[in-house]
Amino acid sequence: MRKLKTIRGMPDIFGNTLQKISFVEEVCRKTFHAHNFQEFRTPLLEDKDIFTRSVGETSDIVQKQMYEFQDKKGATLCLRPEGTVGLARALLTNGLDDSEIKKLFYIGPMFRYERPQKGRKRQFNQAGIELIADESYHADLEVIQVGVRILKDLNVKFKLEINYVGDVQTLSVYREHLRDFLLKNKTKIAEEFYQRLQRNPLRGLDSKDENIKAIFSKTKKLSDFLDSNQEQKFKSVINGLEALGIEYTINQDLVRGLDYYTGTVFEFITDKLGTQNALIGGGRYDTLLMDLGGKKLPAVGFALGVDRLAELVNPSHNDKFLFIGSLTSESKEYGQKIGSILRELRPDVVIENYLGEANVSKQLKKASSLGFKFVMIIGQEELKSKSFKVKDLNNSNADFLIEENNLAEIFND
Ligand code: AMP
Repeated sequence: MRKLKTIRGMPDIFGNTLQKISFVEEVCRKTFHAHNFQEFRTPLLEDKDIFTRSVGETSDIVQKQMYEFQDKKGATLCLRPEGTVGLARALLTNGLDDSEIKKLFYIGPMFRYERPQKGRKRQFNQAGIELIADESYHADLEVIQVGVRILKDLNVKFKLEINYVGDVQTLSVYREHLRDFLLKNKTKIAEEFYQRLQRNPLRGLDSKDENIKAIFSKTKKLSDFLDSNQEQKFKSVINGLEALGIEYTINQDLVRGLDYYTGTVFEFITDKLGTQNALIGGGRYDTLLMDLGGKKLPAVGFALGVDRLAELVNPSHNDKFLFIGSLTSESKEYGQKIGSILRELRPDVVIENYLGEANVSKQLKKASSLGFKFVMIIGQEELKSKSFKVKDLNNSNADFLIEENNLAEIFND
């Protein structure tokens, strides 16, 4: 039989890693709700065409990262590589593309055929928000505030980098400028790189290749192509960040890899994860809904890399409350009854009914290694007296007795 294996870049997730991922997702969900964003779920599969039209024909995602296939009727579908386009499509197909302001969020897996490495997988989880139908800079600030709140709540140090990419027109003029500039520097660039950059010249700006970096440092910046109206909009965002006390750095080379961005773009980065240093990426995409065939509806949002963030967090385990051990089959059954009464009183704490066979000292060790606060072990005597000794595993002087008819006392401080 062939050896069983997981698909490259798509590891199974369990144990400590899963605990951290769930913790990040919980904090995201809580913060999204606190800012009154509503959940929206779209399918994992979409028509490939919607990504080609919006993310951009020359983007890395469309060029090489899509998991695409033909279904039984020959339609070209793909596993979603990101969440924004599917959500924009859903607003159009559900008739939700009116001018009412909408605040939506999603959490779920995305798929990209990238070279797997630390911080980069082929199936990974993103939590994202989209603020639709608000063109004001306040919407940009609201979205950035949510990102700041999440990272602070997770106790993760970050740097916010921000830039302003103008509109479709500005970007197209800037691309042409870069293409001319590339042509003048053709001899200094390897042919394969050169062709790729001619197709998508913006990629040269955030290239990690030292030669490309050096060449691009000598050309004009995107900011030289902004008109006064665009400069003013960017200024409002920057002033807003200062008023909110949010630290930022302007990174003039930040353009993001997807074509649909217009206006403000930003990334929250860390210096703790090596080259894959982006934790959250986002910005404004005022023409995406129109590109998909709808009307022009301004929008701004971000996507947060759940798996990457999970590598930086330390969830506390203090919710493991009581380990109920037992010494006979009869006491095990009785222990399950006690467990269910206690869970009804406090559904928020973790109570383990130990089902294995082991002597008292092994059960105590087990409770301690699993991180429980209290342990009670039920044997013949406890079964008769209906009174139990509760051991505090962090403080041996704090043991106490409780009885079946006043079990709630275990929750007293
Ligand atoms: P993007 O949609 O490319 O702007 O990505 C937004 C965030 O998702 C990034 O800042 C990363 O934290 C995360 N991310 C993107 N691609 C991957 C990947 N292949 N594996 C893990 N996380 C990723």
